[in-house]
Amino acid sequence: MTAHHDAPDDLVGCVVVAAGSGTRLGAAVPKAFVPLGGVTLLEHAVARVRTSGAVGHVVAVVPDELHARAVELLPGTTVVTGGADRSASVAAGLQALPDRCAVVLVHDAARCLAPPELVAQVVEATRRLGAVVPGLPLVDTVKRVDAAGRVLDTPDRAGLRAVQTPQGFDRALLERAHEAGRGSSVTDDAGLVERLGEPVHVVPGHPLALKITTADDLGRAAQLLADADAPAARMGS
Ligand code: C5P
Repeated sequence: MTAHHDAPDDLVGCVVVAAGSGTRLGAAVPKAFVPLGGVTLLEHAVARVRTSGAVGHVVAVVPDELHARAVELLPGTTVVTGGADRSASVAAGLQALPDRCAVVLVHDAARCLAPPELVAQVVEATRRLGAVVPGLPLVDTVKRVDAAGRVLDTPDRAGLRAVQTPQGFDRALLERAHEAGRGSSVTDDAGLVERLGEPVHVVPGHPLALKITTADDLGRAAQLLADADAPAARMGS
């Protein structure tokens, strides 16, 4: 219609999944609706995606009972109800994105402090590479173990990455991966693309894209948020 609609970011969508119960956090409300510095994790996540300037459309996927609440919290964001597992929730979000979004990011609301720069970097890399996950080198040595806890082997840490979200995909590829992987126990979207035999690339992740799972994580995120909001005050003290 207008030049505005041809802007590159209009072709980029982001599904923010927030429909998990988050039982490991032990809060009274589902994890994405827990406040951090007075704002829900979901709002933090969506605000950072929008601030990146690289994403034209955001869809939030939430528990059915919190649909109305999410619409209130997120003006201008499409809100849909999630499914029984993470991949069903992603699929629901994908369906709600406009057809013109040819590049899609999938982001966990639980990684609510993932910074706008990371979002923009993932979009840029996805345009070049088709399927991209942010990841960090491991600080811990990792053991593979059997069901009894006996160590099987120690993979070379140098070849391992702890991956985060947002993950970015050519939309057609991601839809094909979800179609083929329905019902599988793969824990991230890149895993579904890998199962198709298609290449996935790791780009540098960010410490702020940590995933909030436990009450300890929430405390750590609160500290990071306070630090990020008050760098000048700290430097002056
Ligand atoms: O449970 P876990 O922390 O691994 O979930 C990762 C993300 O997937 C969270 O942001 C959670 O809200 C989302 N999720 C979802 N629908 C489900 C299960 C998880 O949107 N049924």
